[in-house]
Amino acid sequence: MLYYSTKNKQHQVTLKNAVLHGMPEQGGLYLPTYIPRVDEHFIKKLKKLSFQEISFSLAKLLLGDDVPNAVLDLIITDALNFDTPLIPVSHRINTLELFHGPTLAFKDVGARFMARLMSHFISESDKKLNILVATSGDTGSAVANGFFRIPGINVFVLYPSGKISEIQEKQITTLGENITSVEVDGNFDDCQALVKQILSDEVFTEQLDITTANSINIARLIPQIFYYFRLYSQLEVHPHYLSISVPSGNFGNLTAGLLAKKMGLPVYKFIAATNVNDVFPEYLKTGVYRSRPSQTTISNAMDVGDPSNSVRISNLYKANLAKLRQDLYGASFTDDQTRKCIRKVYDTYNYICDPHGAVGFLGLEEYISKNPRIDEAVFLETAHPAKFKDVVEQEIRKDIDIPDRLNMCLKKEKISVRISKNIDTLKDVIIEKN
Ligand SMILES: *Cc1c(COP(=O)(O)O)cnc(C)c1O
Repeated sequence: MLYYSTKNKQHQVTLKNAVLHGMPEQGGLYLPTYIPRVDEHFIKKLKKLSFQEISFSLAKLLLGDDVPNAVLDLIITDALNFDTPLIPVSHRINTLELFHGPTLAFKDVGARFMARLMSHFISESDKKLNILVATSGDTGSAVANGFFRIPGINVFVLYPSGKISEIQEKQITTLGENITSVEVDGNFDDCQALVKQILSDEVFTEQLDITTANSINIARLIPQIFYYFRLYSQLEVHPHYLSISVPSGNFGNLTAGLLAKKMGLPVYKFIAATNVNDVFPEYLKTGVYRSRPSQTTISNAMDVGDPSNSVRISNLYKANLAKLRQDLYGASFTDDQTRKCIRKVYDTYNYICDPHGAVGFLGLEEYISKNPRIDEAVFLETAHPAKFKDVVEQEIRKDIDIPDRLNMCLKKEKISVRISKNIDTLKDVIIEKN
């Protein structure tokens, strides 16, 4: 399968190229040149399959020409070694819990798969790869964990000193081995600027094979398609009007859902639920896409003012707003509504949402109230509530149990290299590891 750039359909590359470079040089994002469809028989027998079996069948359809079956099987078994259970919350409403991976956020799915696929592609050429990633929190921990102990790959995670939560910092800085955490005296933009500076230094990047692992890599999107099918496989009966609410920031998660539907998954409607950073819901309502600086909220992994995957969505629908509205409903919510929702869902249904999942729940509730015929509804839970302990405990008025894997990492010692915003110091850190 070839992948084309949203900026220029004629610009097509192999999967290997798309995965190792992440983004086309002239801008735009990669999408598959055709979307394979599953048959009805596959949908009917989903119930009998495990998450890994479902994922393998879909991966074969999507990547089968590019990766040998045995390798694909290994990548999936290793990357997706946790399930995504569907949990009933109320009559008609369920949640798909995507936080059972090592860093307790759904980004584990994409990061773990991408890491193993990259490792496969570089193993063919006996190269060593250095990956630089700047993070404001969650992406860094998922990427660091995803690449931990992956042969042939060194990872450098740059994060702003003192500006991420203790949990996030511990998740990045306690791994060691092939993961180097670089604590930068500055803010997130400074970290990102350092990464960009290194990547644009052609001599240095040639010499050491340096790339980045950002959220727009197609290898992160593909495995996210799998859990929408896993969702369907856990439904008791096949609903007529299945509606799925996706708490969204950069819209990668939602793009994967729309691809699942195009592959033949019977979803009636997707709900794009955001916090006050509502560029996309606004676009759905008005037809005008107006990007703007992001605002800080309690669902901070969704504080995005110009969602990168909107070009993919627009491309998949050939910019046809009417068609897009058929599949997608948009809604946005304030922090105050989100807090009240966490409280209400706990008091009424005894389920603990994290702030991102709560935004998803609100989107679903709003949509169902306007469409009473909806017979089955699911919101995605993208992070474990323990990751947002302070906000959640205030609303549910009791302590949250911290999962063992998080407790273990909180007890470990932080190891980081602290640097000023200086490109030469960063180069030294990278050279030392090679
Ligand atoms: C990244 C993230 C999101 C947003 O996902 P997108 O694919 O960027 O829309 C939502 N919730 C959590 C917890 C996240 O970490």
